[in-house]
Amino acid sequence: MQAEATLNHSCSHLLAAAIKRLYPKVKFAIGPAIENGFYYDFEFSQPVSEADFGKIEKTMGKIKQQACPFERKVVSLAEAKKLFANQPYKLEILKELKGKISVYQTGDFVDLCKGPHVVDTAKIGAFKLLSIAGAYWRGSEQNKMLTRLYGICFPTAKELAEFLRQRAEAAKRDHRKIGQELELFSFHPEAPGDVFWHPKGYLIMQQLFEYWRELHRREGYQEVRTPEILTRQVWNQSGHTDFFMEKIYRVLTPGAKQWDMAIKPMNCDGGILIYQSKLHSYREFPLRLGELGVVHRFESGGEIHGLLRLREFTQDDAHIFCTPAQVKSELKKVIALCFEFYDTFGLKLDHLELSTRPAQSIGATAIWEKAEGIMRQVLQENQLPHQVNEGEGAFYGPKFDFHLRDSLGRTWQCATIQLDFAQPENFDLEYVTAKGTRERPVLIHRVIYGSVERFLGILIEQYAGAFPVWLAPVQAKIIPITDQHLGYGRQVYQKLVDAGLRTELDDRRDTTAAKIRAAELQKIPYLLVVGDREIANGHVNVRTRGKKVLGEMTTAAFLTRIKADLAQKRQI
Ligand code: ZN
Repeated sequence: MQAEATLNHSCSHLLAAAIKRLYPKVKFAIGPAIENGFYYDFEFSQPVSEADFGKIEKTMGKIKQQACPFERKVVSLAEAKKLFANQPYKLEILKELKGKISVYQTGDFVDLCKGPHVVDTAKIGAFKLLSIAGAYWRGSEQNKMLTRLYGICFPTAKELAEFLRQRAEAAKRDHRKIGQELELFSFHPEAPGDVFWHPKGYLIMQQLFEYWRELHRREGYQEVRTPEILTRQVWNQSGHTDFFMEKIYRVLTPGAKQWDMAIKPMNCDGGILIYQSKLHSYREFPLRLGELGVVHRFESGGEIHGLLRLREFTQDDAHIFCTPAQVKSELKKVIALCFEFYDTFGLKLDHLELSTRPAQSIGATAIWEKAEGIMRQVLQENQLPHQVNEGEGAFYGPKFDFHLRDSLGRTWQCATIQLDFAQPENFDLEYVTAKGTRERPVLIHRVIYGSVERFLGILIEQYAGAFPVWLAPVQAKIIPITDQHLGYGRQVYQKLVDAGLRTELDDRRDTTAAKIRAAELQKIPYLLVVGDREIANGHVNVRTRGKKVLGEMTTAAFLTRIKADLAQKRQI
């Protein structure tokens, strides 16, 4: 990891050195290594675009070949100020520094930098500029907009080629692009960060909800629904106004002088209020209350990203109230359920994280230690390797985070399971034990999809829009060859609709080839072509998405086939 960052950071200097050569008046901001590559922020006196990348890369290549050493110098603050006299951003950074200043020289380019770097520019491997974007100086909208150039560097050309191949594949699968092509959803500036589901997209959402309900009913969950807007007081009690305030939409009800209610950022308080509405007995435990709850979180404009980061989204939440003795077995059941879900979608576990107590949190240290101890035991007993994510737990308890790997090898965080001893204390929750005494229940919060919208975004990229039959908005399309075959096509259509399939009939006057192409672009799993021969034989001519011709069969035989796909939730 360190070597990768050093290489990429060195390459950001190489980029800056090339930019200096090509655009002598440029002002330099900063150029760190990031998770995938590096960037450098510049203030140009003339417009620069992707069209200039070739020229910039060529100059970078020349400087690389010259094997310019990365020379470190330590200078006084006064010397540094002289060195960067024409560089306002560097001067601003210098204002915060004291004592000796570390600078690096590469050819005729000097940068304010702590290092480390590779020995000389020839040691920089294969690089490529990736994109260009606007970025505010120090991330603040009050400041000037700079030009950020992103790039990446690898030790070998082969690794770079593989990265670029994967990146091109990911761009082809971008859920925002596919979502538009398949008419699944749209975004509008009238509701920034929120999604508008179109009929076909919402159909897929419904399938995800239904599958969720099916498995949760089987697992003994009961579904509830709690209000969107709750009083300020209850969010105070649960600690959300202390620990989650910057993401909460506040509501000023008519007549109120200051905000007195809030749109829920989490479903917890609603679930807890349902629990509080009566005295519970240990006999009801584990009490599993599931909620497909719509939550709102005010994510900053820069964080919003298609379906992957929305301000309004549906959590497939559940709150499990149980006795301390039931905690371990409940956690294990939830983990098993997570694996069952991911298996259905062909997603693999990449790694599991145990996130521990954050700096800002509620509850006694002993209780946190106990909760983390139980979670460690569960991981050990299930032989699940994990990483520890120090200080990243929820403010009321530690959690497991599942990171999944998709068909392109990218990872996504989806499920979280939180173990909470603090909120039951906070809300003074009780249950009646077998001995008739009153005790505190333990609360497990958990989501499996995470955000259902985000999960669907991941699935769109996982399948590149070619959904398995059970999720496909249109499962079969009937294509009559000419108008004369429309009547028979309608009969087939009706049989499929009666069998509960999502079907379309292409009754446009167009060539069969054009109709097939249109259906292929919509990634419909099955195409049923009907013409003279099929009518004479009482058949349909079946082809699958991806141009595989299955040939003639009776409608009944086709129904048997597609029903098996549905029952097994398999890809065709
Ligand atoms: Zn919760």
